[in-house]
Amino acid sequence: MGKVYLTGAGPGDIELLTLKALRVIREADVIIYDRLANPEILKEAKDGCAFVYVGKEDSHHTLPQEEINEVIYQSALKYDVVVRLKGGDPLVFGRGGEEGIYLRERGIKFAFIPGITSAIAVPEYAGIPVTHRGVTVSFRVVTGHESKHKDHSQIPWENYKTDDTIIFLMGLHRLDYICQMLIKIGKSKDHPVAVISRGTTPEERTVIGTLETIYEKAKNLPTPALIVVGEVVNLREQLSWFEKEV
Ligand code: SAH
Repeated sequence: MGKVYLTGAGPGDIELLTLKALRVIREADVIIYDRLANPEILKEAKDGCAFVYVGKEDSHHTLPQEEINEVIYQSALKYDVVVRLKGGDPLVFGRGGEEGIYLRERGIKFAFIPGITSAIAVPEYAGIPVTHRGVTVSFRVVTGHESKHKDHSQIPWENYKTDDTIIFLMGLHRLDYICQMLIKIGKSKDHPVAVISRGTTPEERTVIGTLETIYEKAKNLPTPALIVVGEVVNLREQLSWFEKEV
């Protein structure tokens, strides 16, 4: 029986892969991956490594999680070194925990290999620090993708009145709704918002606006994209660096 490495691939820039992730990718007998931040990483695999793709471009059409769990499990019965590669960090909206539980229940050894999460690194490449002394003392990372069948929001919007920086992942398709909800709980219409598309890659684009204006400005940006809400967005004027270089 093999061992499964639930591995973070980082946010896009291949150099943001950890040394540990690179080591297991090079040792892997099989790599199970989905819509990866950077498919170039797969070129690091050894000759003869098998690749299993478990997703499509559009995140709504990935294999059901139960089937992915089973693919990983079956791979562990067949191969020694199994790498389950995920964008960013495997446990930040990566469902790595579910995969770990599934393997544990079947007696398969696994390890988590943390990755640099897009939630922090993508704003950072756009010159937006998620915390900044004197501006905000905390940040939260929230899913913008809620279960469709629920008729009420699972997000406790009332808790979001604080000055935390709020980073929404998987939220571009609900940008309008997110901004409306934040205005509804009392945030100013002029509150700064950034949408960053394809962060840390040569195609990175950042659009800045307010809760009132951002939807019209950013709705057509390509995915993956994340949303940053908070005064820290204004620091980009002094801190933007990466988009100047590429
Ligand atoms: N585990 C991942 C997040 C998975 S959820 C991590 O830690 O980064 C997928 C969401 O992450 C996307 O919908 C998008 O909001 C965000 N994301 C991932 N890579 C991104 C990138 N390069 N640029 C902008 N957003 C990104």
